[in-house]
Amino acid sequence: MPPKLDYPELTIARRSWRYTPDGGCLANKVILVTGAGDGIGRAAAKTFAVFGAHVVLLGKTRSKLEAVFDWIAGNTETKPVIVPCDLLGMDESSANGLRDAIDQDYGRLDGVLHNASLLGPKVPIEHYPPEHWQNAMQVNAYAPFLLTHTLLPLMQAGEGASIIMTSSTVGRQGRAYWGAYAVSKFALEGLMQVLADELENAGRVRVNSLNPGGTRTAMRREAYPSEDPQMLPLPESHMDLYLYLMSDASIGITGQAFDARTWQYSTQP
Ligand code: NDP
Repeated sequence: MPPKLDYPELTIARRSWRYTPDGGCLANKVILVTGAGDGIGRAAAKTFAVFGAHVVLLGKTRSKLEAVFDWIAGNTETKPVIVPCDLLGMDESSANGLRDAIDQDYGRLDGVLHNASLLGPKVPIEHYPPEHWQNAMQVNAYAPFLLTHTLLPLMQAGEGASIIMTSSTVGRQGRAYWGAYAVSKFALEGLMQVLADELENAGRVRVNSLNPGGTRTAMRREAYPSEDPQMLPLPESHMDLYLYLMSDASIGITGQAFDARTWQYSTQP
């Protein structure tokens, strides 16, 4: 069954998807998306809602979250909520508060897309400002750990939940001048592997990493200012993979590192 509604970028991108998700593949699932106000996170939040999920929209800028909330509330029958939150300041108390709010609003959590990220300066390690290093590690690696650690019991209580750690090419092979951004993505890959191994026999929560590859967003423009953005895929181009990993289609798939540019859907695990 096709989803009830597309929006222009999604309609265009769907023509080249490698996998055709069922229109209700996320029906009634509750999914937290970090960095939901812009770029890939915004596309994921809207797409997840189009496919039936109630999305918890976490991000730094309230006005951006409100715009995504308004679109979802106006165009789908799902129930989004916004959580304005600077992950730079996330601590145990704010993570606990978020868990309690999700528990109260929905009573469960079926998925987390760890997507928010800080690029930081692109300079040699020798010249890397330590404060910027700490900030990137906090937002890109510590906050995903803290959220995962805190929300895991809520996810384990359900039928089967999915965690996606957003990685990067430089988080799988180090590259000069990518500093804390690259190192934080290595940390996320490590967190994914350790957690997947711990949960393998429990069977209820799967965790994978996903490298979207070069994608037309503000962060990409910041990283490659002279590049022509029109040459890059829209965030919506990758949403077949995001839907696959968030939906029950990927039950049993855990501990794997996905790359949106090379992924081919296969019914064989
Ligand atoms: P964008 O910069 O377009 O969006 C990043 C989002 O993260 C924004 O919504 C931003 O909120 C949010 N965010 C940043 N810092 C914080 C914070 N301290 N607290 C809360 N939210 C925050 O990035 P992309 O969409 O390009 O990137 C999404 C993910 O994909 C990232 O993990 C990135 O590393 C990864 N990636 C992207 C690639 C690309 O080519 N675009 C390539 C490889 C990986 P706000 O807008 O309010 O600041």
